[in-house]
Amino acid sequence: MTTQPIQKEKLFVNGEWIEAKDYSSLVSPYSGKILAQIPLATIDDVNRAVQAAESTRETLRKMPAHARASILEKMVKLFEERFQEAAEIIALEAGKPIATAKGEVSRTIQTYKFAAEEAKRIHGETIPLDAAPGGENRIAYTVREPLGVVAAITPFNFPMNLVAHKVGPAIAAGNPVVLKPASQTPLSSFFLAKIAEDAGLPKGALNVVTGKGSVVGDALVTHDLVKMVTFTGSPAVGIGLRNKAGLKKVTLELGSNSAVIVDQGVPLDKVISRSVTGAFAYQGQVCISLQRIYVHENLYEEFIEKFVEATRKLNLGDPLDEATDVSALISPGDKERVLNWIQEAVQQGAEIAIGGETTGNILQPTVLLNVPAESKVSCQEAFAPVVLINKISSVQEAISYVNDSQFGLQAGVYTENIHTALDAADQLQVGGVLINDIPTFRVDHMPYGGVKESGTGREGIKYAIEEMTELKLVIFNRN
Ligand code: NAP
Repeated sequence: MTTQPIQKEKLFVNGEWIEAKDYSSLVSPYSGKILAQIPLATIDDVNRAVQAAESTRETLRKMPAHARASILEKMVKLFEERFQEAAEIIALEAGKPIATAKGEVSRTIQTYKFAAEEAKRIHGETIPLDAAPGGENRIAYTVREPLGVVAAITPFNFPMNLVAHKVGPAIAAGNPVVLKPASQTPLSSFFLAKIAEDAGLPKGALNVVTGKGSVVGDALVTHDLVKMVTFTGSPAVGIGLRNKAGLKKVTLELGSNSAVIVDQGVPLDKVISRSVTGAFAYQGQVCISLQRIYVHENLYEEFIEKFVEATRKLNLGDPLDEATDVSALISPGDKERVLNWIQEAVQQGAEIAIGGETTGNILQPTVLLNVPAESKVSCQEAFAPVVLINKISSVQEAISYVNDSQFGLQAGVYTENIHTALDAADQLQVGGVLINDIPTFRVDHMPYGGVKESGTGREGIKYAIEEMTELKLVIFNRN
């Protein structure tokens, strides 16, 4: 049997594929096998990438909207042609079950399509200056101008689509990008760079620099030529980099401990299958993964029974197997962390309804009951296949539990009562409220983002473009 040589990747700077001084091994979360050698960019490499981006700034700024849209459309076509390859890269480096990885590639395609469309719709408005005394005989309008170099720093969990949520709107708006992907998922970004190159994106408009967050990320966040940092990742890193970013624009898409509330009188069948998917898809490593379920006491026992039954049917295994629902967590350290958190909850009085152990290197989907609010599995972000189901006597009571959180990304409420739904929409302290659905819902053009430690700013192409452009006012004096 011949063994394949390990691929040595290169940095993508100014349209060139360049070697680095040092490399690190990229290891599959599931098999532990080495997948590739990844370049570790130095601060000099980062400076070169930022300089390359800056030097293409005017080219992009002057490029007509239809030309930017056309490049994005070509990228869409190339992603469609290389669909299977893209999904396998995600499955291998992120340990994402292939069926879910294919879903991510489909969404990536959607995201670049929306970006191509939105590139043609970036405009300002006319302002009636004569509404103010002294404003007579003036014509005023606004335009939206690209900001300049955008630093995009991305997490491991959606290595293609969350990168698309930064690169797509940046190109649509005419901004060059320096992309620093998560160390565990760089291959998706190199794949994107090849696609962008083939689609005819000008040299320097997209640069990919891999390496340690604390080195590469930090160098980007503090670089004078970087005009915006768009970050998706953990609250600790996001808050830290915002504190260093000075006057740069900063968008932060951070974590959460998302919840759903199930009111009395709700037919449970649809709720159960949606909730099981929301809790365990991609091992719970989704920013809006369902972590807390609050069920009305009238339905509590029935809900637990059905939820546990559906959880038992999930298939654990290799991410490349089409039948797999749940695979390995991103690192052995994360598995240990979550096992400790489960233990802590049990010591504090919680009960394990199913799971709580490992099968090989996979943490079993775990359902916990009666979890105290102060347990880490409740009040912190688990980012694992762990969900709690607690009993409530009213939706109002559950709203207070949902709001008693440092996070506020999305929340769901199942209810048959329109007044309850409207009250919940009004009172929940989150970026998005979903009535009759779980919080784990996103399509790629909706405004998406959180409050509190879940972040600041919105993504969803049109909204990201607003963040990535500066409003300029022009006034003609006819006096
Ligand atoms: P992470 O550890 O915060 O890493 C995110 C990115 O930041 C990576 O590229 C990382 O590089 C980089 N980084 C690390 N330290 C840095 C520093 N000091 N300065 C600048 N950059 C630095 O997050 P993750 O574990 O990859 O992703 C999971 C988190 O992302 C969860 O909290 C999840 O909720 C959140 N998330 C939020 C959303 C949303 O839209 N709200 C979506 C998806 C995920 P290295 O990999 O090299 O460390």
